[in-house]
Amino acid sequence: RAGRGRYRLFEAGMDDLLHKRREMEIDLRRALALKQFELNYQPFLDLKSDTCIGFEALLRWTHPVKGNIPPLDFISLAEENGLIVKIGEWVLRTACREAASWPGEMIVAVNVSPLQFKADTLLETVSSALERSGLPAHRLEIEITEGALLDDTDNVLKTLIALRDIGVKISMDDFGTGYSSLSYLQKFPFNKIKIDRSFVACANADSEAILRAVAGLGTSLGMAITAEGVETADQLARIRQERCTHVQGYLTGRPMAANLVAAFLTQPPTD
Ligand code: C2E
Ligand code: CA
Ligand code: CA
Ligand code: CA
Repeated sequence: RAGRGRYRLFEAGMDDLLHKRREMEIDLRRALALKQFELNYQPFLDLKSDTCIGFEALLRWTHPVKGNIPPLDFISLAEENGLIVKIGEWVLRTACREAASWPGEMIVAVNVSPLQFKADTLLETVSSALERSGLPAHRLEIEITEGALLDDTDNVLKTLIALRDIGVKISMDDFGTGYSSLSYLQKFPFNKIKIDRSFVACANADSEAILRAVAGLGTSLGMAITAEGVETADQLARIRQERCTHVQGYLTGRPMAANLVAAFLTQPPTD
């Protein structure tokens, strides 16, 4: 009986989990139509001029009952059921439209899921987002993680080259956390490497050596290097020494609502 009791308990737990997932999936399907998504923008700075040169678009979902659900809690579900393709289209269109009103040469960086490459409509989606918004292609940056490069490599390469050829910039995101292969840096047309914040946050000799090596490698290959997740002045001083070219993190600016970007850009530097 004890065994049976445990079995029932387990079953009830499983049911609950599946139920919650199914509910989340139903809610996620409706989220686009109900306009529950918005984009926040986190500034990144050029370390030579110490000025903001662009913003990364970060997806935000306000659930009517559960409130804010962070992207890491729903993006993998959206990838599993394919919704990420439609959501990703919305992200690209919205980011380009909102960025088109930013001053000067300000860049917008957009995260693209590996699944969007599989859908084979990415080039079309990007082109139409640029066209509709009037944003020049060189002001759009696409961020991809190593996961996107793992399978169907030839197709991904073709798409990336086509994007580069229309003038879009391409960044390797979260560098060092996945199946990093140095051959990727040679094979794919990256303009920028974003070093994952785990290497920035950890202040020991090893992570410093990795930071230095990646920055050196990127520099030699003619790429820009962004240090992600910089939170303290000490970390900022370190990444300056290691020849990173860009910085992004809470220290230099948190993700903000679209309507706060203009004010952020006109505020005097705090240094
Ligand atoms: P990511 O692309 O690496 O984005 C950076 C994440 O680090 C963001 O989390 C940002 O808020 C956070 N962050 C920035 N500076 C700091 C810092 O100084 N300290 C700390 N602790 N965190 C910092 P967020 O917005 O929760 O996004 C998490 C991830 O979700 C992103 O990681 C990205 O992989 C994914 N994501 C976000 N928006 C999109 C999207 O539109 N499409 C896709 N496919 N993925 C997205
Ligand atoms: Ca990113
Ligand atoms: Ca990242
Ligand atoms: Ca990340």
